[in-house]
Amino acid sequence: MLDLRRHITPIWIALLSIATLTTGCTDTILGVMGRQVEQAMSSDLPSSLPDGLHVLVCGAGGPLPDAKRSSACLLVIAGDTVLLVDVGSGSARNMAFAGIQPGLIERVLLTHFHSDHIDGLGEVATLRWAGGDWEQPLAVHGPEGVAEIVSGFNLAYRRDQIYRTAHHGLEVTPPSSAGLSATAFALPGEGKTSIVFERGDLRITAFAVDHEPVSPAVGYRIEYKDRSIAISGDTAKSSNLIRSAHGVDVLFHEALSRTLVGVMNQAAVNVGNAGMAKITADIVDYHASPVEAAESAQEAEVGALVIYHVVPPLPIAPLERIFEKGVRDAFDGKVEIAVDGTFVSLPAGSDEIEIDEL
Ligand SMILES: [Zn+2]
Ligand SMILES: [Zn+2]
Repeated sequence: MLDLRRHITPIWIALLSIATLTTGCTDTILGVMGRQVEQAMSSDLPSSLPDGLHVLVCGAGGPLPDAKRSSACLLVIAGDTVLLVDVGSGSARNMAFAGIQPGLIERVLLTHFHSDHIDGLGEVATLRWAGGDWEQPLAVHGPEGVAEIVSGFNLAYRRDQIYRTAHHGLEVTPPSSAGLSATAFALPGEGKTSIVFERGDLRITAFAVDHEPVSPAVGYRIEYKDRSIAISGDTAKSSNLIRSAHGVDVLFHEALSRTLVGVMNQAAVNVGNAGMAKITADIVDYHASPVEAAESAQEAEVGALVIYHVVPPLPIAPLERIFEKGVRDAFDGKVEIAVDGTFVSLPAGSDEIEIDEL
């Protein structure tokens, strides 16, 4: 079992809490803070992991604000390569909690361009620029349209980059590695995949999913040595996904509860909120239900299912039980309803599937 909790600091939090309750403890607080900052700046979760494929859920939710689930973000560690699949708001914060230095991120893969999948791009690129040692901007891969997204972020952050280079110097914040660079791939047809990135034992392919009217929209299959995962992005139940994800160790699949969104819809109607009534009616047919995600996992014969991009927010446990009703009847393998900090570990050369929570 991985000792992931050494990367977070409950003892420090407890000490600080006690210290703040006591008068005259400023020196103690500052001393503890200094040691904690040293630990945070030198923490390196990826290098402490066994060789393999590992995934941190750095955003388990959708577009609606949720205390336990930020917008979509999966951080993938494949050997010594660290990459992100989607970067919703909250991504950088959740990586920090997990002991991931933003300077380690080599590239980003986008599934599609809905706001809840790209909102954190500027923040992550800026932290990586300031904290990393790269000579190039952060590479962003995606289907056609990714160049438009990247140039928009680069324009929005252009002044920030000028200020920081003027203030911190060319060595710490060189313009050459600021911002983002786009690499587009053609949307693969039904039954086909596109190779997005390949190096050594790592191979990443994209496949089309069904998120109409949002197009292009893709999922990814990531293989490293003898381990593999598939990521749905946003999709209704998709036969193309089932085919493309066949046999992976873990399927990360989005899900929306029609029962719970139906309650939101009725509430919007009751209070006369026509906009929310329309939106909550529109969204149910371009996402999969939790049971459909489980059926896809079963049909794709995967080892485990992690449901992420959980919609709507589930602030109390009884709602979680309604959300996952029927899921375990539809899929024989292990199921996890992700929260921010869910961590999946697939050591190379084994068939272990470890699922923890940071
Ligand atoms: Zn989404
Ligand atoms: Zn979407």
